[in-house]
Amino acid sequence: MRANEARQTYLVKLDDAVRRLAAPAGIEESVTRVAMEHFDADRCYYCEIEAGKAVIRHDARREGLPSVAGVYDLERFPLHKTIVEKGRTFIVPNVREADSIDEDLRQLCESLQLISFLNVPVIKDGQPAGQLCIVQSMPRDWADIEVSLAEETAERIWAAVERSRTQKALFQSEEKYRTLFNSIDEAVTTLEIIFDENDKVVDWLMIESNQAMTKVTGWSDEIVGKKASEYLGDVEAAWTEAVEHVVKTGEPIRVEHPVAGLNGNWFEVYLALVGGKGSRQVVCVYNNITERKRREENLAFLAEISQDLVEMSKPEDTLEVVGAKIGTHFNIARSMFVEIHENEEKAMVRDWHRTDLTGIHGEVLLSQFIDERYLKKCRAGETIIITDVHHSPLVDGPQVEKIFGVTSFINIPIVKEGKWVFTMGIYDVLPRKWHNEEIELLEELTARIWTRLERAHAEEALRRSEENYRVIVNQSIAGILKMDVQGRVIFSNERFCEMLGYDCPTLLQMDINDIVYEKDQERNTDAFMQLVSAGKAYEIEKRLLHKDGSIIWVNNQVSPIFNNMGNVEGVAIISIDINHQKELEQQKDEFIGVASHELKTPLTSIRAYGEILEEVLLGSGNPRYIALMSKMNGQINRLIKLIYALLDTTRVSGGQLILQKERFDLNTLVEEHVQQARLISANHNILIHVETLTELYADKERIGQVLDNLLSNAIKYSPDGGNIVVNVEEKESTVQVSVQDSGLGIPPKAQEKIFDRFFRVKVPTTKIISGIGLGLYISREIIEKHDGSMSVISVEGKGSIFYFELPTAEKNQNL
Ligand code: ADP
Repeated sequence: MRANEARQTYLVKLDDAVRRLAAPAGIEESVTRVAMEHFDADRCYYCEIEAGKAVIRHDARREGLPSVAGVYDLERFPLHKTIVEKGRTFIVPNVREADSIDEDLRQLCESLQLISFLNVPVIKDGQPAGQLCIVQSMPRDWADIEVSLAEETAERIWAAVERSRTQKALFQSEEKYRTLFNSIDEAVTTLEIIFDENDKVVDWLMIESNQAMTKVTGWSDEIVGKKASEYLGDVEAAWTEAVEHVVKTGEPIRVEHPVAGLNGNWFEVYLALVGGKGSRQVVCVYNNITERKRREENLAFLAEISQDLVEMSKPEDTLEVVGAKIGTHFNIARSMFVEIHENEEKAMVRDWHRTDLTGIHGEVLLSQFIDERYLKKCRAGETIIITDVHHSPLVDGPQVEKIFGVTSFINIPIVKEGKWVFTMGIYDVLPRKWHNEEIELLEELTARIWTRLERAHAEEALRRSEENYRVIVNQSIAGILKMDVQGRVIFSNERFCEMLGYDCPTLLQMDINDIVYEKDQERNTDAFMQLVSAGKAYEIEKRLLHKDGSIIWVNNQVSPIFNNMGNVEGVAIISIDINHQKELEQQKDEFIGVASHELKTPLTSIRAYGEILEEVLLGSGNPRYIALMSKMNGQINRLIKLIYALLDTTRVSGGQLILQKERFDLNTLVEEHVQQARLISANHNILIHVETLTELYADKERIGQVLDNLLSNAIKYSPDGGNIVVNVEEKESTVQVSVQDSGLGIPPKAQEKIFDRFFRVKVPTTKIISGIGLGLYISREIIEKHDGSMSVISVEGKGSIFYFELPTAEKNQNL
């Protein structure tokens, strides 16, 4: 009974020792002490067996004995290892006499005074886990009851150690969770949701929060244990609804919304129910997404401003359009646009400002506001950020505050081709720490505004230059128009519309043939087509039809407009009203007509009298009178020729030239006229090259007149004499006659006008040769009336070749 009681007492003590302690080492220490006392042993220890090694953390022992604490490799003691592995209790009454003990171990035991011992192993899952050793420093016989008690003790120690281990692991895992909970960047809180009697969420209690909570929200951890209504004030419906959704459905939800109670900062919160359905606890993970939201807002703002800029038309509009918006978006007191001019000396300043500040506008001298150092930064395109002008070495704080009424600003300079050209700035009255995304936004805005401003300037310059041209074009006394290659009028100045009596929109609807006089249409179209295909400018006199049906004579200078590929894409026309000139010409023609007609009759009579008188004087035999009379008759004949030329001119220009056509041999005609010409000048050698020809059907008299004119010109304009070659050549259905001299020649410019009425080359050498400039005019009219053509090739100082080409008789009769 006593033994049993002692045993019970021992086991209670053992349990007490185990329960009080948490760590395995502590358990081992106190339990082995209790056991040593109870067994009245000299030493007691519990070793854990791990991976073939016995680990003794601590041994309870009598005073004066050495400690056996340490790690022992069981491999060293193979016999002992087998016993341990088999899980057998190992009793050694006297180590010196025992046989089943490794020699090494025996010596070790002797040296440590382990003379007698009782070893009780603990086997778990078939493996040795630990061993309790009760030791005596002298031989001892161990009673069975002692052995079984030792076995019981070993089991209890193992259980206590194991429990302590599990608890520690559990604690460690909890610790891990707590560390995680506190170390993550996201704020995490657990809320206990409070419902009213209608099952509506009315409030919640913050029951737990991590360390990031303070960082993310700025709340101190004192809010734990408080209600939302206390730490948030009014809660946005979005949050209440989210919480209700999570509790009622058990589904997690993610919400993005600003929180008024946190300066309107934006939060993204992930809410999930803790503890399954029916629970009222919600865990929330928060992220402050204000910066992201700001960036999103900035992007939207940038898009809005860009749209405004697209619609802007003048540079001056920039500020009106975007200044105020920038002011509101950045919540600033002033925004400034500064265009830098004249080699960074002057600047044009425009600003938007809050009503309590004064405006700054107009041209300024840059040196009044910034120094060389500031200028250098701007030139380098460096963004200038000033939190407080009074603490910046870059600016004169008091002056900035005085002039601009501000103490903080950002300035973004734009540099182009190494020159500072523009700066945009935003300013605030109080010192301000500018956010990164504000700076980035302003940089982007500045670049966009500058690009737009640059374009606006270019557009303005273009508009001005267009305006200039418009004024010139519309004030011009000439009609100016543009046509496409199809002959449609695509632009007309006001003058041209006035000339024709139409308003411009109506005129632009009209076809070219609606305004060109019928009889000039073919000539006009031919010339136009030639220009379109060959790209050569031309001048034309033609008649246009006024709206009221009257005819207007115009002189048109027509030039091609080329596209990038070098093709004609349109035609520019300068049209001058020559109606008045034409009227004067007509009056002149009428006068010449009347005068020459009136002169012709008396002159013809004078010539008859003169011829009679010459006959009479020939009879008298006075050579002097005869010579005088003959000279007088020569002059009278010249005068009559002149009168006939004048009469022809009026006929030609009046379209009254009547041809008396007949069949004749051109070669014979040429021969006759060359013969006559030879009589005029002894100085010239006139040669004829002729081919056998078919006949001509033409006005023989008039063709003779043309030949006379060309021959007399060839003689007149080669005053030094020389060869004159007349060539007659048959072509396909035409015949070509040319008269070539080696005389003065004609300057290139004059060649174009040589067939015009009254035109004479005004160079000193030809000026002194008498003539009135009608011969070639009449000749060409005669040839053209025969459906022929006339032209000239001439080299100044070398000579000229005049050609005319006529249809042969066959061709003519076929017609
Ligand atoms: P006119 O000879 O009476 O002046 P024309 O009509 O016959 O008038 O000729 C016009 C102008 O052309 C002349 O004034 C002259 O300058 C120039 N011209 C005509 N034929 C020749 C020629 N063979 N060589 C040089 N110039 C000529």
